Amino acid sequence: MNTLPKIDLHCHLDGSLSTEFISECLGRNVGTNELTAPYNCQSLAEYLTRFDLPVSCLQTSEHITSAVTDLIRQAKDDNVRYIEIRFAPTLSLNDNLSYTEIYEAAIEGCKKGLKLYGVYSNIIACAMRNHSEEQNLDMLKSSLIYLGNGLCAMDLAGDESGYPNGLFTYLFNAMNKYNIPYTIHSGECGNADNIRIAVDAGAKRIGHGIALTKDQRLMDICKNKHIGFELCPTSNYQTKAVNEGEVYPLNNFIEYGLLATINTDNRTVSGTTMTKEYEFVSEKFNIAKETLMQLYANSIEASFANDDIKNELYKLYEK
Ligand SMILES: [Zn+2]
Repeated sequence: MNTLPKIDLHCHLDGSLSTEFISECLGRNVGTNELTAPYNCQSLAEYLTRFDLPVSCLQTSEHITSAVTDLIRQAKDDNVRYIEIRFAPTLSLNDNLSYTEIYEAAIEGCKKGLKLYGVYSNIIACAMRNHSEEQNLDMLKSSLIYLGNGLCAMDLAGDESGYPNGLFTYLFNAMNKYNIPYTIHSGECGNADNIRIAVDAGAKRIGHGIALTKDQRLMDICKNKHIGFELCPTSNYQTKAVNEGEVYPLNNFIEYGLLATINTDNRTVSGTTMTKEYEFVSEKFNIAKETLMQLYANSIEASFANDDIKNELYKLYEK
């Protein structure tokens, strides 16, 4: 599994920092138990408690650049050839760090990652559901000059049940106005309406989208629009997006002809890698090697990468 080429389209920077990086940043030995959520997590809320320490390590330009490079190093060990790294710039904003410095630091990390490890990458900036309209729009406007230059898209992350997609018309309108491609976390917590709202607004991809199988008509719409679905199997079981014994929608999505992809979500918080995700779906859902290559091709199609990178990635596609 390790030798197969891979693409990770849904990977949160703060949830994917190595224990070595966080220990160095904090000046003490940090235990895995402080960072990794148990497989048998009680809820999404418990899962989210593991993000506090890593966010405290993303408060200077140097740390942001090193964090991105640290993540790309891990991806390389996994034979990931392209990764879209997402984080919420507003969580790094402080008296000594501006949005401009945050974006430039993250993009610098991507450039270093390519140079050191030969892995292509792009940044996705996350708006947060619990942030104000003003905060999210400030973040969006300050990102515009980086679009297509290291920043490839935007996302909306956070508590989907508490702050459903219907509250974010202002954000969808702004992203459409400025031609920003976007993926939206939707249908992770059982609600297909959130997927419908995101797709109707113009989302090119959906983060998770587990709830889609509850709505046949919406499945057809997503198929016709070539919506990419960023499934994150280990994380989806941890957060109880899917319970043991329930049907995980991966085979269903593939058979239906949807643009399904598999991803890590959070390497450290979920204790996973792309290789582990490949092994997980192979063993648990009988996914064959040819299908894994199909998922790789789906990831290229769904990615926000430019054509040059996509062409490089297609060269590794074994039919
Ligand atoms: Zn996510």
